[in-house]
Amino acid sequence: MCRDPFCDARIRHIDHITRYSDGALTTYINGRGECERGNLVREMPGWRIKLLDCGFHGGPHAIMITTPIGHYYRSRGPGHIMTTKIITITALGQSRQSMSGMSSRASR
Ligand SMILES: [Zn+2]
Repeated sequence: MCRDPFCDARIRHIDHITRYSDGALTTYINGRGECERGNLVREMPGWRIKLLDCGFHGGPHAIMITTPIGHYYRSRGPGHIMTTKIITITALGQSRQSMSGMSSRASR
């Protein structure tokens, strides 16, 4: 679901929290899922988005969205999908790899 407050539209764009044009990198931490409308509105003058929590220290990924008239909203991500690669060495010396997924979800 879109990270904008009060919007439950499906994610269509991955937005840079700090804009790529401002020198930010394309990273997991600097990204947020947005509906198309939300991503286009964000590009209008006066909108600001700030990272509050990268989400790697126990809490969910969190951002602060400030509108052109100064209202601000906190938006929290749904949690991480953590994947661990497990390598098993067999008796014959062959390795097998498997992926183990674990996901956690937090409220918005
Ligand atoms: Zn939206």
